[in-house]
Amino acid sequence: MLILTTSLLLSWTAAAAAPAATLAPLCAPAPLLAPFGARPLAQQEAPTQAEHPLEAEARVVEKIVAELVADKGRKLKTTQSKDGRVLLHTDYRSKREPKKVLENAADFLHAMDWYLGPYQPTGKEKWKRDDRPMQILILREEQTYFDLVDAIIAAAPRHQASLGAARERNGFTIYPAKLRVYFRHVVLEGMMRLEHALPHDLIHLEMHRRYGHLPNWIPEAVACAVEEQLLQTIHGDWYTDGMVLQTAHGGWRGTDTRTAMDSGKLAKLYEYTGKPYDTQVSHIAYGFAVYALETHPAEFDALCKAAQARYDEKPEEGGLFRLGKGELRQMAMDAFGAGFHDRLVEWWQKAPKRPNLKKPRPKPKG
Ligand SMILES: [Zn+2]
Repeated sequence: MLILTTSLLLSWTAAAAAPAATLAPLCAPAPLLAPFGARPLAQQEAPTQAEHPLEAEARVVEKIVAELVADKGRKLKTTQSKDGRVLLHTDYRSKREPKKVLENAADFLHAMDWYLGPYQPTGKEKWKRDDRPMQILILREEQTYFDLVDAIIAAAPRHQASLGAARERNGFTIYPAKLRVYFRHVVLEGMMRLEHALPHDLIHLEMHRRYGHLPNWIPEAVACAVEEQLLQTIHGDWYTDGMVLQTAHGGWRGTDTRTAMDSGKLAKLYEYTGKPYDTQVSHIAYGFAVYALETHPAEFDALCKAAQARYDEKPEEGGLFRLGKGELRQMAMDAFGAGFHDRLVEWWQKAPKRPNLKKPRPKPKG
């Protein structure tokens, strides 16, 4: 997913710096409606000294969503995943699609725990905790969508630029509040598979929850790996940029990735932005994520933490992850050890079998 940056430099530490909001694909413009809900953060009751700035923002955005849901006239129905980690609110009349989205979302998050171990932050990072569920909003009513956008901008002005653009699109993501909003668009509806796209986006939220800000291809590759693991095809936003109609959604765990691994493009992975889309490098990124998650989760964890630590050193770049040439590659070598590329390519010589995530995880081995 394209991470949009705000011009507003964030004053808190970069470990906390969250991309303001990211946008879902385009959507028709619609009229601007009056905001409702919360006042700007500055006018809210003073938060306690210890409250993290993103905690404050998450709290306010969650309140806006709660008020929206409580407004009977909007006819929003709420369901919760069995494990309590995801809340879904929708004004769709049909239950079928939202139900599938919610089930997949819970399965996707369970997959992350299976791969990387459970994650429950303590102390100041409690805004990231599981007991604050991720929330998905699936909306068909234009007014509800625009009121929500306006209310969030009014309460948290750092989202102004990205959410202003969201008025023209079909949704957005807010990281601190762990919120994914989808606004139905009649033209895109047939193309977009919500039961893929929305759980896929929760993996972005989960990666951010665990590791903060990372080079974009890492969470993207992980989201695609989880999507493919559970649904066998990839429809997430990784390659919607002009390639969606030309590239097969299936076959990632097979010949296409094997061939890409042998293409000599592996070194390009570390500088890859996804724009323009390169199908071989995307397959390499996917192949890297599958290898890392299934066989070397501790090394992958170390790489993500090292990248995050490096980001913390340059908080002035707020929102945009810039690394010097070769830096990320070196971090990968440090985390995975010498000969990493050879082992990765070799592992992909045969299409790896999908692990059974319903069983406890066997001890990882190389
Ligand atoms: Zn994505």
